[in-house]
Parts: sequence; C-alpha cells; structure tokens
Amino acid sequence: MQKGQIRVQTENIFPIIKKFLYSDHEIFLRELVSNAIDATQKLKTLSSIGEAKGELGELRIDVVLDAKEKTLSIIDRGVGMSAGEVDKYINQVAFSSAEDFLSKYKDASIIGHFGLGFYSGFMVSDKVDIITKSFTDAKPVYWSCDGNPEFELYEIEEAERGTRIVLHINEESKEFLESYRIKAMLEKFCRFLPVPIFFKEAASEDEPKQINNTNPIWVKKPAELTTQDYQDFYKELYPYGETPLF
Ligand code: ADP
Ligand code: MG
Repeated sequence: MQKGQIRVQTENIFPIIKKFLYSDHEIFLRELVSNAIDATQKLKTLSSIGEAKGELGELRIDVVLDAKEKTLSIIDRGVGMSAGEVDKYINQVAFSSAEDFLSKYKDASIIGHFGLGFYSGFMVSDKVDIITKSFTDAKPVYWSCDGNPEFELYEIEEAERGTRIVLHINEESKEFLESYRIKAMLEKFCRFLPVPIFFKEAASEDEPKQINNTNPIWVKKPAELTTQDYQDFYKELYPYGETPLF
C-alpha cells in the first residue's frame, strides 16, 4: 500500500478545476469516455503489432449509473495500467503554468490539452476510484482520491483487464445521477466514436443500450450507399426532423 500526495507544479489542481471549469461540468464525461476510447485503441494497435498477446475479447465501453450508490462508472477493456503507470500518469500530474493559461482562456474544452482530462471527474465527484488491470502481467491496482491531494494506491488480487473509473457524484452534481441526463450527454459527445459505448442503469433489468454508431456513413464507400442509408443518417442527426424531400 502506498500513500502520498498528488504532485503538481501549482500547489493543488483541485481548486483550479473547481474554479475554472465551473461553467461546463458536462465535459467530465467526454474526457473519461475519450480516455476509455484511447485505451481501447491502444490495445488494438498493440495487438496488431504483436505486443499484446491472446484474445482481446469484446472491446466495448460501458457507462453504468447507480443512482442508489450515487456512482457513475466508466468501464473499458483497454490497455489498463500497472501500479507504476497509475503513479506516473495519474499521480504525477505535471503541467506548467496551467493556472495562467486557464485564467486567460477560461475555456473548459481546453482542459484536455493539459493531460488533465481525468481530473475533470473531480468537478462532479466527492471521490474518484480507479480499478485497473494492465494487459501485461502486472497486478491489478486500486487507486482512490477524495479531492484533496491525498490518494491511496495499492495492488489488488482480481480485476478484469482494462479500467473502471468510479465517480462518487457529489451533492451539488446530483443532476448527473439522472439517467436521461447522462444519456443525453452520451448522445451528444459519443454518437460517432469508434468503440461501442453502452449505457445501463444498475437498478434496471434492461440490457445495456448501445449509444453510438461505430460505422458512420462517411467511412463507407459512396457507391455502396443506398437512399435508405442517407435517410437513416439524416434521422440520426435530426431525430425530430421531418423526412427530407431529396
Ligand atoms: P490525456 O488523456 O490527455 O493523456 P488524462 O488526464 O485524460 O490526459 O489521462 C492521463 C493519462 O492517464 C492518460 O494519458 C493515460 O496514460 C492514463 N489513463 C487515463 N484513463 C485511462 C484508461 N481508461 N485506461 C488506461 N489509461 C488511462
Ligand atoms: Mg484524456
């Protein structure tokens, strides 16, 4: 078990996150899903060059809302992280003069450019957990941080390959425990991302529902497209619009 302080050049990133990103809390989901996509694509690449061995299984991303436990989880089956990688990529958040930059641009979309995407989860959470297992032989890892710079990091026995980010949604962000809200955000940010993304409510018996179309019209050959394809695409973009005349 390791205990320590998250190292940042400015004394603490949490006030910065809260102060500058107040206006657009929604981006946390986009950042965490894009990390899940990155991790999945990395694994596909490593597998194609023979660096990741064996069956990859179904590569998908699951977003699970548990309103009772007040958690929102983002789960991928990507490369995962070893303890050393969590320490390097999550704990040692080094970014120079981010405070200056953010105060100048005051633009939440910029946060991804700092390698601060993961920390945007703290905008809406009291506590964030990571359960992750690398595609290598490294032991799975549990990391947890409650929004002050102290974190816990230790190895665990069992976990599936990939990463599970668990956000313990805070009182002010209760809106993100509403399934219609999360679904709308996923539809807005993830509609055409290249890995299947499923949404599920923990309390619901329903099968997880796929949010995105991983094979959008523009990756197909024009000669292979039918009128129906064009009309379906139009419907995807304008679900409440009328059928186009042409
Ligand atoms: P960025 O994505 O711009 O590098 P982030 O703060 O979003 O910055 O993530 C920091 C790093 O943490 C990533 O570069 C990656 O190495 C690691 N990471 C984050 N999420 C995941 C994940 N789901 N699976 C594997 N690694 C991850
Ligand atoms: Mg990121």
